[in-house]
Amino acid sequence: MAARSSLKISVALLLVLGSAVGYCAAQDYDFFYLVLQWPGSYCNTKQSCCYPKSGKPAADFGIHGLWPNRDDGSYPQNCNPDSEFDPSKVSDLLSSLRANWPTLACPTNDGVRFWGHEWEKHGTCAADVFDEHGYFQAALRLRDDLGVLRALTAGGVNPDGGYYTIDQIKGAISQGTGFEPYVECNRDESGNSQLYQLYFCVNAAGDSLIECPVLPRGRPCGKRIEFPAF
Ligand code: 5GP
Ligand code: 5GP
Repeated sequence: MAARSSLKISVALLLVLGSAVGYCAAQDYDFFYLVLQWPGSYCNTKQSCCYPKSGKPAADFGIHGLWPNRDDGSYPQNCNPDSEFDPSKVSDLLSSLRANWPTLACPTNDGVRFWGHEWEKHGTCAADVFDEHGYFQAALRLRDDLGVLRALTAGGVNPDGGYYTIDQIKGAISQGTGFEPYVECNRDESGNSQLYQLYFCVNAAGDSLIECPVLPRGRPCGKRIEFPAF
């Protein structure tokens, strides 16, 4: 009897201690946004851009982030100030990150700042499913699985400075990937609306694409959407 109650006390103590040091981080989100950016539309704006140290990225969609989100549209952020980004934990992913998650912010840098920002702001809020390596690996895999640019070009939507309707863009992506993204636009230097970011949704386990439970509040697109070259 005494042994059983002391066992109960030990289990309770472990649970309290565990949550105090973060082992039991509860899930505080319902799904993820996988946000991809078109480099041409980041760079041809008034703010312009800087290529990373590794050189001009490929003309393809790069990752912006994998963001935990709630069904009511709100989201947690900066969940663990003690979990600073450590590049050595993703050393095997660095070449893939440089190629598929390139930074375009100025001044020119190696990307560690962008990845660190995304991990600390968003990744740390998904500690129940991802450690740092798992977070970056999952985003890279999901992006790879989608093959968004392939879907667009197969549907006749090409990054050639031409203009397309939102239905052409969404239609080509749905047809080619099976998922309809939320399309966010920004403006080029002359003020034309252009395809900037695509938001896809991922289940709470972080391993499969799903239809989006709620759409983000991004910048709406015009009737004619430019798809600039890069
Ligand atoms: P978020 O908008 O995800 O909170 O923050 C993006 C942060 O990452 C900003 O501080 C931005 O300057 C930086 N950043 C670095 N490289 C990039 C990039 O290629 N694209 C975007 N959107 N932000 C970047
Ligand atoms: P912006 O104001 O440029 O749209 O967003 C700035 C930053 O806030 C994004 O880079 C991202 O870090 C965060 N953010 C904006 N909207 C959302 C959203 O709907 N969900 C989540 N999880 N983060 C968002």
